[in-house]
Amino acid sequence: MSTTISKAAANAQITYNVSFPEAQAHYADIEMHITSLQQNTLELKMPVWTPGSYLVREFAKNVESLTAEANGKPIAAPKINKNTWQIVTKGISSVTVKYRVYAFELSVRTSFIDASHGFLSTTGIFIYPANMLHSPAVIHIKPYKNWDKVSTSLDMVNNDPFTRLSPSFDILFDSPIEVGNQDVFGFDASGVHYEICMYGGGNYDKEKLKADIHKIVDQEAAVFGENPNKHYVFIVHNRQRNGGGLEHLSSTVLGASRDNYTNDKGYQSFLGLVAHEHFHLWNVKRLRPIVLGPFDYDNENYTTNLWIAEGFTEYYQGIIVRRTQLFPVQNYFDVLEGEFNVLENLPGKNVQTVAESSFDAWIKAYRPNENSNNTTISYYNKGAIIGMMLDLEIINDSKGKYSLDDAMKYMYTQYYKIKKRGYTDAEFKAAFEKFAGKKLDDFYAKYINGLTPIDYNKYLGYAGYKVEDELADKNDAALGITTTTTAAKKIIVTGVQRGTAAYIDGINVNDEITAIDGTPVTDAATLINGKNPGDKIEVTVTRDGQAMTLPVTLLKSNRVKYNIVTVDSPTEQQMVVRKKWLSI
Ligand SMILES: [Zn+2]
Repeated sequence: MSTTISKAAANAQITYNVSFPEAQAHYADIEMHITSLQQNTLELKMPVWTPGSYLVREFAKNVESLTAEANGKPIAAPKINKNTWQIVTKGISSVTVKYRVYAFELSVRTSFIDASHGFLSTTGIFIYPANMLHSPAVIHIKPYKNWDKVSTSLDMVNNDPFTRLSPSFDILFDSPIEVGNQDVFGFDASGVHYEICMYGGGNYDKEKLKADIHKIVDQEAAVFGENPNKHYVFIVHNRQRNGGGLEHLSSTVLGASRDNYTNDKGYQSFLGLVAHEHFHLWNVKRLRPIVLGPFDYDNENYTTNLWIAEGFTEYYQGIIVRRTQLFPVQNYFDVLEGEFNVLENLPGKNVQTVAESSFDAWIKAYRPNENSNNTTISYYNKGAIIGMMLDLEIINDSKGKYSLDDAMKYMYTQYYKIKKRGYTDAEFKAAFEKFAGKKLDDFYAKYINGLTPIDYNKYLGYAGYKVEDELADKNDAALGITTTTTAAKKIIVTGVQRGTAAYIDGINVNDEITAIDGTPVTDAATLINGKNPGDKIEVTVTRDGQAMTLPVTLLKSNRVKYNIVTVDSPTEQQMVVRKKWLSI
C-alpha cells in the first residue's frame, strides 16, 4: 500500500454528511464532498476488512446507488474492482459522491442501523479517496427522528457533537460512531476522561461500573507507565444475549447481555471484556506487530504474532481483574483452568502451532468448519497460556524482581514511543530474554513454533501450584462426537473428534443417529450409558436419506479436566513468585 501523500491529496478537503432518512430499513445515506482536487483521475475505495478482526468482510457489498457529480452535473463513477470506483477528474476541482449503505449485521465489527440507533463501524461506512489516507475529514451527522446523541472518540468541531473531525483515515477507521439515545456517563482516570455509552438498557449500576472500570483502567495504565489518550469511549451494545468486543485506538465496542450485570459470573465476565478491550489500547493498537499498521485496507495483513497481540491481551484480562481484588483468587483460577481445558481437549493442539494459528487467522480462525477442532487451535487460548508461562518464567528467573509487565512496558517504550514502529518476532523474544535473564530459543522451539505438550506443573510450580486432572482415575467410554438435537428430536452429528471411536469407525458429521444396538434413541446425553471402553456397539445412522449400521468399538475417554491446586509446603521462593504473580 502506498502511504505517501501527493501534494494534491494533502491540499484536498474532504467532508462527509451522514444521514438516516430510512433508519427503520437499516440505511445510512452518505454524501462525500472532496474539494481542491488537482489530479486527472480519482479512485474511491472502501476497506475490505476492519482492523482487529482478521477476516476479509467485503464491506463494499453493502454499498448501493453510488453516484457522482461535479459543477452540478452527473459524472461517471464506474467500478473497476470489487471495492474501487473511478472518476475522471481532469479539469475538475471538486466532486460530490453520494451512496447508501445497508447496515443490518449485528456484531461489534459491522454496522447496524434500525429505528432505535445507528452503529457505524467506520470501515464499512466511509468510502475514501485512494492515496489520501493521511487527509483529515470532517463528518456531519444528521440523526434520525428523535435521536439526540453521538458517541465517538473523534473530536467535536466548534463544540458541536454532530460535527466531528478525523485527523486521518487511519484514525477515522479506528473510531466507531454510535448515534441514538444511549445512556452516557463518565469518570476521569489516570488523566483521561472516560465515557461509557450504553445502548439497549440493562440492569447495570452506574456508580459501581464507574468505580470498577476505574480500577481496571488504573491497573492497566500501571503496566505501561502511561495512558496515552485524552478521551476514551466505551460503546456498549446491550442485547438479550450478546458478547464480544473490538478494540480501537481511543474507544472500544462491547457486546453485553442486558440482564447479566447483577449476577456475579456475568458481571465478572463483563469486566473481563472491559479489561481485554481496554488493554488493547496499548497491546496491538500502539505496541503492535510490524505489519499491523499502517494497514493495507485492500488485503489480508499477515502476522505470526497474534498470540502476543490477542493471546497476551486474553492473559492480561484475567490477571488485571485479579489485581483489582474485586474477586477471590479462585475466580482467577477458574479462568485459567478454563484456558487449560480448552487447549488440552482440542486435537488441533497436535497439528497447528500458535504462530501458524496467528498467520492463518484470515482463512482458519474466522472461517471455522466442522473439522476445525481437529486441526486448529486458538491464538487467544494458547497465547494466554504462553503469557502465563512467560510471566511465571520471568518472575521466577528474576526472583520476583520482574514480571511480564516489565517486558510489555519495555516494548511499548522502545517501539511505540521511541522507534515509532511495530515490532518483529525477534525483537519481542529479545525483550522476554532481557527480563528472564536467559535465552528462550528452546521455549520458542517448543511452544511458539512447535507442538510440545505444555508442562503446566513446571510453570505453575514456580508459584507452588500444580494441576490435578479430575478425570484421571475415571474409566469412562466415549464415542467422540458432538451433536445437536432438532425440534423434531433428531440427533444430528456436528463434530467428530480425531482419534476417537467415532472417528476411527466412520461416523460422519451430518449423520442422524437413530439407534444404538437396535434400540431407537432420542436423548443425545445417554447414547452410550452403561457401556465401557472396549465394548462393541452398533450405531444406526441416516446419512443422506439412507439408513446404515456402523460397528463401533468404544474407547476410553481422553478428556482431561485440570484443577489448579497448591503444592504441599511451598518454599520461600515459590511464595515470592506466588505473591508477585497473583498480587496477594
Ligand atoms: Zn482482543
